[in-house]
Order: sequence, then structure tokens, then C-alpha cells
Amino acid sequence: MTAALPLMLKELRLPSIHRFWEEYAAKAIDNRWSAAEYLSHLCELELADRETRRLTRRLQESRLPKGKSLQTYDFSAVPSVNEAQIQALSQDVSWIEQSRNLLVFGPSGVGKTHLVSAIGEELIQRRQRVIFWRTTELCQHLEVAKKERSLPHFLMKLEKYDCLILDDFGYVHRSDQETQVLFELICHFYELRSLMLTCNQPFGNWSSIFEDKAMAVAAIDRLVHHGTIIEIAGESYRRRTALSHRAAEVSPLANTNK
Ligand code: ADP
Ligand code: MG
Repeated sequence: MTAALPLMLKELRLPSIHRFWEEYAAKAIDNRWSAAEYLSHLCELELADRETRRLTRRLQESRLPKGKSLQTYDFSAVPSVNEAQIQALSQDVSWIEQSRNLLVFGPSGVGKTHLVSAIGEELIQRRQRVIFWRTTELCQHLEVAKKERSLPHFLMKLEKYDCLILDDFGYVHRSDQETQVLFELICHFYELRSLMLTCNQPFGNWSSIFEDKAMAVAAIDRLVHHGTIIEIAGESYRRRTALSHRAAEVSPLANTNK
């Protein structure tokens, strides 16, 4: 009677039950589980594994930089970042459901990419789909899509994500075409999906990103309408850690010279 069970479980795509049904059958006898208890233990197992597989898949597709999590983010190093605010943005996904945006400003090396990646990872843990793009790279893809007349299709593919990360928005060159596609992207996602953006240029300089001033104003308008802005002040974390490493290397020498 049970000979066909492995095949049926495969056909039904229940790999965890397929793997464990025999082991659990023995457990059921030992623990005197009812048939319903046995079945619910197996279902629990399948659901838990499915969740883990889903998470792994979502993390892979997100292309988030590795190791940039909230656990490795040192809030004490950046007093201008409000930890409670970041925790709230990470744990409560209502801003994503409302297609709100998050704009992170600050000079190079202060941890903008790390911060948005960490939030992105937390959002994925909370069942949101996230994708990370360097903005210049995305612009190139958008441009190719436009030339091949497949821009609507490409935008539709991006729509399957709840949150699009545009890293280094300020590095976009203001050649007419790039500016145009970037603007189209912002318009398309406005009130439709969330954008998380990092930028080293304050809004005042955005005329250097968008050739056309009216376009810069229209883009800013759409981004900030339902948006939260975080400004990270201070010195580059990269530079600071490089300097402290150098100091650590130098000091033992200094001691031996004494
Ligand atoms: P930005 O995007 O602002 O140029 P990054 O996010 O790339 O800066 O940060 C530069 C480096 O410093 C990265 O390796 C990042 O992980 C690290 N870093 C920045 N801020 C912090 C922080 N507060 N805690 C831990 N690491 C940080
Ligand atoms: Mg960066």
C-alpha cells in the first residue's frame, strides 16, 4: 500500500515529508502519536523547510552585498543614525506595503550601502522581495531595454519586487538617455513599489544627475512625496577604520623603540 508513497510525495513536491516520513513513522509508534499528530508533525517539517528554502532563494535573488547586516552595523559609530528608526523600518513592513521610499544621504564611506543592505535583508526575513542595484548598472540595463523596445517588459519584471534598492544614485552620468530612463523608472514605481536609494549628492546638486532641471524637480517630488529621509553625517567609516588599523600597526613599533 505504501510502496507508491515516495513517488506520490515527489509528485506532490513534498521533499521534506519524502525524506522523513519513515523516520517519523517510527517516532509516531514510540511516542504513540495519533494519525493526525503524525501528519501534522510532517506538515510542520515541510512548512519549516519550505520557509528556509524560500528565504535562501529570496536572499540569492536580491543580490545584496554579503555581510552587510544589522548585526554587523555599529550604531555607536554613527550618532547621526537613529537606531530606533532603523529597527522600526526593518521590523515593520507597513512602509513597504504603502510603497513608501527611503532616501539615505551622506558622503562616501559613511555606511549608506551597508545600512540599506541591512534593512533590505531584514525586509526579506519578513517576506518582502528586495533587489539591489547599483544605479549606473540598472540604468545601462534600462537603456538596453529601451533600445530593444522591451522597457515595459523590463519594468514589469522589476515590479515583482516589493522594494528596489538604487545604490549610488548620485553616480549617474547625466547623459540624456540615462537621465530619461531613470526618470521613467521613478515615475513607474511612484506609489507602486518602494525605492530605497543612497546618494552622496544633496537634492540641491541633482541638476547634475538630471540634465533637465524640471526633470530633477519632478523626480525629487515623486521620491519625497511618500518618503523618509536619513542623513548620515560624519567621517568615512572606511577612512576611520583604515586609520585605526594603521595606528595599531604603528604603536607596537613605537613601543619597541622606547
Ligand atoms: P557608503 O555606501 O556610504 O560609501 P559603505 O556602506 O560602503 O559606505 O561603508 C564603507 C565600509 O564601512 C563598508 O565596509 C561598511 O560595511 C563599513 N561600515 C560603514 N559604517 C559602518 C557601521 N556603522 N558599522 C559597521 N561597518 C560600517
Ligand atoms: Mg555605497
